[in-house]
Amino acid sequence: MKRALFTFLAGLAAPLALAAEPPAPAALPSLARLQAMTARFAPVRLSAPLSKLPPGEQQAVARLVEAARIMDVLFLRQVSAGNAPLLMSLARDESALGRARLKYLLLNKGPWSRLDEDQPFVAGVGPKPEGANFYPEDAAKAQVEAWMNGLPAAEKAGAQGFFTTIRRGPDGAFRAVPYSSEYQDELARAARLLREAAALTAEPTLKNFLEKRAAAFLSNDYFDSDVAWMELDGAIEPTIGPYEVYEDKWFGYKAAFESYITLRDEAESAKLARLGAELQGLEDTLPIDAALRNPKLGALSPIRVVDIVYGAGDANAGVNTAAFNLPNDERVVQQKGSKRTMLKNVQEAKFQKVLLPIAGVALPLAARKDVSFDAFFTHILMHELMHGLGPSSITVGGRATTVRQELQEFGSALEEAKADVSGLWALQQLVDKGVLDKSLERTMYTTFLASTFRSIRFGLNEAHGRGVALQLNSFLDAGAFVALPDGTFRVDRVKIKAAARDLTARIMTIQAHGDKKAAGELLAQMAVIRPPVKRILDRLSAVPVDIDPRYAVDFPPPAPARAR
Ligand code: ZN
Repeated sequence: MKRALFTFLAGLAAPLALAAEPPAPAALPSLARLQAMTARFAPVRLSAPLSKLPPGEQQAVARLVEAARIMDVLFLRQVSAGNAPLLMSLARDESALGRARLKYLLLNKGPWSRLDEDQPFVAGVGPKPEGANFYPEDAAKAQVEAWMNGLPAAEKAGAQGFFTTIRRGPDGAFRAVPYSSEYQDELARAARLLREAAALTAEPTLKNFLEKRAAAFLSNDYFDSDVAWMELDGAIEPTIGPYEVYEDKWFGYKAAFESYITLRDEAESAKLARLGAELQGLEDTLPIDAALRNPKLGALSPIRVVDIVYGAGDANAGVNTAAFNLPNDERVVQQKGSKRTMLKNVQEAKFQKVLLPIAGVALPLAARKDVSFDAFFTHILMHELMHGLGPSSITVGGRATTVRQELQEFGSALEEAKADVSGLWALQQLVDKGVLDKSLERTMYTTFLASTFRSIRFGLNEAHGRGVALQLNSFLDAGAFVALPDGTFRVDRVKIKAAARDLTARIMTIQAHGDKKAAGELLAQMAVIRPPVKRILDRLSAVPVDIDPRYAVDFPPPAPARAR
């Protein structure tokens, strides 16, 4: 699963982003409108320090980028069978409108605008098929569902599995086709490239993953290679294959191809290790009743901080993924756990292209210099770590239970708010202790203030947006954030420290008692958009929603004459 923070429900940003020009549902966008829709994605160059790798490892990365390009081809086909012929015809159209459509199609990986509830923007294209190209074009969802439910258990598991499409046989009956057959040629080419990369690298865990993933492309059994992916422990961290199931809007069964070819960020990994060493100390001083603290924290699931070299397929269809949690296969998760990967240079690009412009609108001039990427990213890391602190397994009326079970529909929003606000509290503790630099105290609260407007822009029908609205309103009520006469907002440097501690205490105490009633009341009262905040959101319509990355890949693209 992925798409936390920046990427969740980005579609809801569209009405805000283009509020001045609501689309006519039936009409195709004009050239000017298509250009405005495209401008919501700010072009940005993304690069990673490839030159620091030895030559052999660089060559391995070059092979992986070639393999990643194949994931793009496969993803386009998974989205729609019509994508390939449509791309050919748009490539021949040299009109300005034709070129704009081609560009936007490549951004969306199909002729439907992902930020605008999948409205088509090319003539002759119907509504986006909800089952994408995973199921027969002429089949209804109910027919496929009835057929699956009538199958013997083993066949049913295959038909509902991650790695099969459903097609019609010569007799017209449905059948499950393994990806290794459906995408045979492309996967054979990708497997060859992974094996070449495996031969080039000297790093044993990378070699092991690449050989096993190449075998999986041909056998359709991904288990061993997912386990090997969890064991990666070198400078190069590739994620390549079929992973997320969001594109299958019928059932969420079918995995879409994507790739993140990344390099481990050594400085941030070291910072993460330093923060990780402080966690028990932070838990022991949480601003809650001592009896509610956990004297022995469990092991954390691993977090990797990386810079992306090349992203492809589902990874950058519309809104770009900035963090993901994989694998999704429950059997692997039970055996090996899962790994959270943060794409630092993607986060930084979004910070530059989206968050700084938001700060330019929402903050007074004097405060804008205190918005910093280091503060932003350090808080994201602390947010992830704080999910592991505070009440989780609890006792209510003598009964052993969990916060999640007790708080039900209020649980996620409160948990996200907890991770944010206790993250601020924790960073302040570490600044006071001298673990983190004192300058962070200047930047982290103002940076957080600017980032709340970015999150709320995505809407309140999602846990992160609701959690952020709860914090913003609590801080406004406490006088820790201040609305100024010109409509901008600033931080009160004294009151914010107590406000972060108090809200941490309030949320964690509700969680510790599994108090669903209090959780519901708090969210109903605070997870709202009040008029001063609404006015700022209205002023953000010209600020980009996301980025359009240009990967700076410093080796030549694959030679066309290469034998395949
Ligand atoms: Zn979170």
